[in-house]
Amino acid sequence: MMLKKQLLELHAYSPGKSIDEVKREYGLKKIVKLASNENPFGCSPKVPEALTSLSGQFALYPDGGAYELRKQVAAHLNVEPEQLLFGSGLDEVIQMLSRSILSAGTNTVMAKPTFSQYRHHAVIENAEVREVPLKDGTHDLEAMLSQIDKHTKIVWICNPNNPTGTYVNTKELEGFMAGVPKTTLVVMDEAYYEYATAEDYPDTLSLLPNYENMVVLRTFSKAYGLASFRMGYAVGHASFISRLQAGRLPFNTSSFAQAAAIAALKDQAFIEQCVTANKQGLKRYYEFCKKHDINYYPSQANFIFMEVGDGNAVFQELLQAGYIVRSGAGLGLPNGIRVTIGSQEENEEIIALLEKVVAKKENCL
Ligand SMILES: *Cc1c(COP(=O)(O)O)cnc(C)c1O
Repeated sequence: MMLKKQLLELHAYSPGKSIDEVKREYGLKKIVKLASNENPFGCSPKVPEALTSLSGQFALYPDGGAYELRKQVAAHLNVEPEQLLFGSGLDEVIQMLSRSILSAGTNTVMAKPTFSQYRHHAVIENAEVREVPLKDGTHDLEAMLSQIDKHTKIVWICNPNNPTGTYVNTKELEGFMAGVPKTTLVVMDEAYYEYATAEDYPDTLSLLPNYENMVVLRTFSKAYGLASFRMGYAVGHASFISRLQAGRLPFNTSSFAQAAAIAALKDQAFIEQCVTANKQGLKRYYEFCKKHDINYYPSQANFIFMEVGDGNAVFQELLQAGYIVRSGAGLGLPNGIRVTIGSQEENEEIIALLEKVVAKKENCL
């Protein structure tokens, strides 16, 4: 066998059932997918407008350096353009970091459960994976610190954490950073940054100058509603980022993704509306959980994890009605489901279905 042996223990990413699959299987017309934390409101109307100007350029390679997007994102974040590394989604940035830093003989520390791709790429690079169980759904930073040794190359902090939605605050993060050796990179995955509104949610970009071993990840897939385009990025120290650029594929982000991201970035009013609707949706789910004494994690993201009972069973129940959510089983939390916050109407529909699930359970007791 010519394959790396690590690949034998991995599987291709399973995104869950597609809308068409569910329609066919259950003979349904209307399907609502709230399984991948995509934006239920789509994206800014400025995006399709911006794309029409590209129609004469299909034969041309994109700008590999993403000059215009780099300039715009740098201005938006108030950082230098040289501090940015763009990838085909954050997924590719996570792959680039892993490929550039991890190898046999090194280890990497992360929470469990957390976003699956940190572990996935560490395994491919043959690095040792040290997983630290969440404490009350949140990163156990003290336990994570105790796992770091001189061979630890990357610590992943998913903030807010997927699949729990919980977050590490500024004070906790600063305390943690004080204990991490400079030879260990701390990756702050802020895929849900725009949704995080807690007062003490860390402003990592202003902390970055204090920590040479920190890098911050953001994406256009979630609040910006551009998941199909694949556009994510890292913000770090220019000297570090320039080394990563050396390993990047020449044309890793498309002209379309770059143009879409530029247009979406300019429409901050759209983001504000989505964040407000998300907060209202979360509140509705909290009310539902409190009413029935169901455990849930307070979320700083656009999803909520609720311990509504056997995750697979509840998932199946909702699926038959045309609502695709995520069973916790595949996420390391089998006693519940993760639901992306939808439109107000979608949230009410899901809650109505969950009311039925709860009623059934209460009748059985
Ligand atoms: C969705 C997600 C990503 C990947 O996002 P893409 O930019 O679409 O690749 C990365 N990290 C976390 C925590 C996510 O939830």
